Amino acid sequence: MSTEAVVDHQADNAVGVAEVAALLRERGPALVLTGAGISTESGIPDYRGPDGNRRVTPMSHQEFTATSAARQRYWARSFIGWQRFTAAEPNAGHVAVARLQRVGAFGDVITQNVDGLHQQAGASNVIELHGTLSEVECLTCGERTDRDFVQALMDDANHGFAALALGLVGDGSQVSSQIRPDGDIVLADEAVQSFTAPRCLVCGHDTLKPDVVFFGGSVPKPRVEACFELTDAAPALVVLGSSLKVMSGYRFVRRAAANGIPVVVVTKGPTRGDAETTHRIDAPLGVTLSALADELAPAS
Ligand SMILES: [Zn+2]
Repeated sequence: MSTEAVVDHQADNAVGVAEVAALLRERGPALVLTGAGISTESGIPDYRGPDGNRRVTPMSHQEFTATSAARQRYWARSFIGWQRFTAAEPNAGHVAVARLQRVGAFGDVITQNVDGLHQQAGASNVIELHGTLSEVECLTCGERTDRDFVQALMDDANHGFAALALGLVGDGSQVSSQIRPDGDIVLADEAVQSFTAPRCLVCGHDTLKPDVVFFGGSVPKPRVEACFELTDAAPALVVLGSSLKVMSGYRFVRRAAANGIPVVVVTKGPTRGDAETTHRIDAPLGVTLSALADELAPAS
């Protein structure tokens, strides 16, 4: 693949934006794949730092499903983190993606994020590859519940827990101020042990799981197939805010490259997809996508 259009840290991003705008004008609605990098400007940090390395180890699917203690830990942290997570709002990048859809530059959006911010910004045809935090499923009986309802259940069963957890913050560094991409936060073990985890209202088991694909879990096959079909029909693929370290997203980039369509990558820092990339902009998402939207949709 050509790397002629690569724009590095020092180069002028305006050139890259103009080239990508020309490409989208010529090709029509590109398939979009987004990662955690598009939500960092909304205050939801990436698991990985700018160097692409993991900063924190997320709970794995195997860990979550193995023991009640792991689920208790997850839900205690999630209970505290939820308020901050739901307070996050779409940023300029999300708004620009919705604008670019409306003018026909962008088509469907496959997102690896579970925060719902694309939809909140007005985007349509969003496929949530890794699921959504807004719903909860029971691993035992399959019952589905709204996450807000589970929050209310936990609230009822854990009076004073938030105050306790927040009190621990005052004592020292028991609770991290950083929320994770899955709504999780860091919480001291003694706080976790006093937490009553939610149970399924239908079968009574403590096997409620947010409807998200944890690390080590797998994306449902029909969802993967639908994304491959979109890739095969796409005139171009635009990757936004992903280092492509996770195969679940990277496979669509490889498919796009195999199909011979242009692959545009806009993200901060290195990616694994450089060999498949035809247009690369290494810059913050909000300002870059806004410039792209202005280029393609000056009237809106
Ligand atoms: Zn159940």
